[in-house]
Amino acid sequence: MPRIAIVHKEKCNPQGCGGYLCIRLCPVNRGGHDCIFIDTDKKVKIDEKLCTGCGICPNRCPFGAIDIINLPEQLERPIHRYGRNGFHLYNLPVPMFGKVVGVLGVNGIGKSTAIQILAGVLKPNLGQDAESDPKALINFFKGSEAQIFFEKLRKGEIKVSYKPQQVDLLPKSAKGTVLELLKKVDEKKELDKIAELLELKQILNTDISQISGGELQRVAIAATVLKKANVYIFDEPTSFLDIKQRIKIAEFIKHLANENTAVMVVEHDLLVLDTMADLIHLMYGKTACYGVVSLPKTARVGMNTYLEGFIRDENMRFRDYSIKFSPRPPLKSQKVFELTSWKNVKKKLGQFLLEAKDGTLHKSLTVGVLGENGIGKTTFVKMLANVLKYDSGEISKQIKVSYKPQNLSTESKELVMTVLHDAVQNYELQLVRPLGVKELLLKPMNSLSGGELQRVAIAHCLSQPADLYLLDEPSAYLDVEQRLIVSKVLRDIAEQRGCTLLVVDHDLLFIDYLAEKLLVFEGEPAKHGLVTGPFSMEDGMNHFLSHLGITMRRDKETLRPRINKLDSRLDREQKEAGKLYYT
Ligand code: SF4
Ligand code: SF4
Repeated sequence: MPRIAIVHKEKCNPQGCGGYLCIRLCPVNRGGHDCIFIDTDKKVKIDEKLCTGCGICPNRCPFGAIDIINLPEQLERPIHRYGRNGFHLYNLPVPMFGKVVGVLGVNGIGKSTAIQILAGVLKPNLGQDAESDPKALINFFKGSEAQIFFEKLRKGEIKVSYKPQQVDLLPKSAKGTVLELLKKVDEKKELDKIAELLELKQILNTDISQISGGELQRVAIAATVLKKANVYIFDEPTSFLDIKQRIKIAEFIKHLANENTAVMVVEHDLLVLDTMADLIHLMYGKTACYGVVSLPKTARVGMNTYLEGFIRDENMRFRDYSIKFSPRPPLKSQKVFELTSWKNVKKKLGQFLLEAKDGTLHKSLTVGVLGENGIGKTTFVKMLANVLKYDSGEISKQIKVSYKPQNLSTESKELVMTVLHDAVQNYELQLVRPLGVKELLLKPMNSLSGGELQRVAIAHCLSQPADLYLLDEPSAYLDVEQRLIVSKVLRDIAEQRGCTLLVVDHDLLFIDYLAEKLLVFEGEPAKHGLVTGPFSMEDGMNHFLSHLGITMRRDKETLRPRINKLDSRLDREQKEAGKLYYT
């Protein structure tokens, strides 16, 4: 069985373990061979050929710095590895002309490495110590679609344009107005057309440093497609966008693919990926250790396989449970006790007016909150939380609220352990373990990545005593697996503690998975917002989708929601019947 040994150098601390504990314990070393040895950087290195896979060193290293992994038989040679005991990537997703190819997998599984290889930015080493020559790479993929791709790349017939994941870093590297930036990259001379399509006209003369996350995302997409290329790769093109914009971007990206153009998309919003992709590669393995790219599947099969956690044709189980959706169960009778209610609440903020006519929140309930960006969702949430005062009207009860804000940036050097003191004391099984925050406990808050900070903020919010938990965009920065885990955590908490959860989010599948009722925000962004509901899921989604002009059905196999193709038979039938949200 092929085996890889991974040493997480950043965790290896030979002084902290009492002096190379792993070397002292390894039975092969004790037998007189150098299976584990000291590397030039004074950390350890492992000779995979000598290692018997006994499991002693990964279990005994106090810092979790070693992983010894027995790989599935079929995985022999990686396409790339970062050093002998570093991350290994097996296989590659392949762009196809005329198609949108999606890539689905957790963070740290090698998506960026794969994309950099496809873009020709990273020269793969095929598991060797030195970069491989282009011929060896072509031979490696002999007889597959990838062979044709790399032959074309070598001949210079492929030009890749790539939108990176972190658009929030754009203002650090680009200065000037949006127009100035886009002019610089406008090789196709289509600036006007693309600015119109991506609704950028109004911000063309605004400085890059002054625009919102959603606007930055659309500027980055525009900059990518204005370049002359025949392969376009988008790494997470919908982060920071509201659902209306997500659907527009999905349509835009879908229409880029033609016989001369291939498109590849990495995306964590399953509903949106399902809409735009023709084919999907799944990526599985172990975060920061190894990643495997599956063969491509049609979007529907790929998505269902992902939820199942088992790739049948490769006989590979990559999750020990499957993710199931269910048609909406009837509300349980205990959910009739009122928690709070509001009547004719008004709040003016500059030119923006928010109104909430009347509504009631019940106990033991998970409520999803939907609406466009800039329509007052966060403002309303803050008024319920008593963080912001309202101008007129009435909110019935002073309830105890625990609030997770949308913006999480922090300069605090406090340790995660201090912030999560209550969670660690009281909710080890309910929060700390499922949210994967245990390994972060010794890190300072200002050193966490976006996804880590999000999980810590969720754990902190839910560990506080409260009647109502308000979570503003908990799916931001999380990969698809983490989103589904968070949904499960939230549902379990509402069920077990009998509390009420209010969840503002733009990922509709995430909301469908966890919410029992919906609050819908209508109006015109930055001018007027109107709070309606809470509705039943069906009524709320009908209400919300009517503003978007789309309809949704449930997949027959997994019951997950899917967006109907515009003007398809189902789309027309559901619109005629007034049932925009699954039949
Ligand atoms: Fe010590 Fe762990 Fe590093 Fe081995 S891997 S030297 S046990 S810290
Ligand atoms: Fe040695 Fe391998 Fe056992 Fe680790 S797993 S102690 S390297 S034989």
